[in-house]
Amino acid sequence: LERVLVVGGGMAGLHTVRSLREKGFQGAITFLGAEQHAPYDRPPLSKAVLTGSGRATEQEVGELAFAFDFAEAEVDCRFGERAVAWAPGVVSTETGVELRYDRLVVATGSEPIRLGFGETLRTYEDAVRLRARINGGKPMAIVGAGWIGAEVATAARDAGTEVVIHEARERPLAAVFPPQVGEAMAGWYAQAGADLRCSDPVDGPPPGTDHTLVAVGARPDTRWLGEAFHRAKDGSLLVSEHLETNVPGVFAVGDVAAYRSVRYGGRHIRVEHWDNALRGPQALVPNVLDGVGAAVHDPVPYFWSEQFGRMVQYVGHHTSADRMVLRGDLAAATWSVCWLDPHGRLTAVLAVGRPRDLAQGRRLVTAAAVLDAARVADAGEALTSA
Ligand code: FAD
Repeated sequence: LERVLVVGGGMAGLHTVRSLREKGFQGAITFLGAEQHAPYDRPPLSKAVLTGSGRATEQEVGELAFAFDFAEAEVDCRFGERAVAWAPGVVSTETGVELRYDRLVVATGSEPIRLGFGETLRTYEDAVRLRARINGGKPMAIVGAGWIGAEVATAARDAGTEVVIHEARERPLAAVFPPQVGEAMAGWYAQAGADLRCSDPVDGPPPGTDHTLVAVGARPDTRWLGEAFHRAKDGSLLVSEHLETNVPGVFAVGDVAAYRSVRYGGRHIRVEHWDNALRGPQALVPNVLDGVGAAVHDPVPYFWSEQFGRMVQYVGHHTSADRMVLRGDLAAATWSVCWLDPHGRLTAVLAVGRPRDLAQGRRLVTAAAVLDAARVADAGEALTSA
């Protein structure tokens, strides 16, 4: 094994490169990324970067960058260069360069779904443009009351900017959470003075606003790979629990991959969150270096969001077959919701301002612990197995 090529200069790509060297790989590493910058952290783009005062680009993006010395690690970095085609053993870039590899890691992440109007938020440059709009003082519109829509609405209200959020479904995050939870979240918008309009799909720029942010989700960036790869319906690359695609020697990790989860009945799941992009490379690299089968990627999914002054954290995965148990009052500043499967096993926890529930829940979900529903409902008691 002499040459590893990592395509996609985001978090999953960076951690792959770092882990290759940490685990002793001494061959050539080429790291290709379409953005001009070295890999940086994306979550602050819809949080601190929007509310910050703004500094020189290089300084600000430098502060967001992951600390890693590419020169010392002898990584051939090609930032600002996009992969445009794949053939067995070779990836071509937009400048016509052909990069040969023994193992290929695809970490090209997601790109925002666009609606033909308005702007989207994925990159540092997007965030800087959005910050100028938010601070411009003119009313703005957001399409989509999902995680990013809520965080941007928070930043707009913090800046005193009027904001209308148009949500196609009947409440925020209707595809993810049951009605009581979505309705409680809708209340947060109202308390912050954000005008949330549900059951209100839009197909053009909402009138009366100066600027529209479209935040209706993201799709995996895989089109450049061509036809040889098996994909899920959403375009993500189907990979095994070892993160290998159907093409031997080609792996995928981070937002771009739908991995086979043993924990969730062998289904392929795509997790578009930071923690997955951090953990994926740790399992991926042993499979690249020591042979497929060396490690399994199957974490309990975790993510967080900071919105309307609240820390919202979710761990696990629940389905509509699971029973929801509330801890606390949904109208209060802090509460949690737990989901128990028909056997009483804890499958997921949503914690709002209750980090201890999250930490204990994470351990219990990982252990598939059985909980007593009546005790779970007592918010004064710690979460423990029955
Ligand atoms: P990405 O970060 O998308 O990186 C992929 C990189 O590959 C990009 O730089 C892209 O330009 C590059 N690329 C794409 N195509 C090509 C190509 N053909 N050739 C070369 N390079 C290419 N998660 C949380 O858990 N909590 C949060 O609070 C949270 N907040 C977020 C806020 C925002 C605004 C965004 C956008 C995401 C947020 N996330 C959050 C999600 C988290 O940031 C992602 O899950 C994570 O960035 C995924 O990492 P990745 O490396 O797989 O993909």
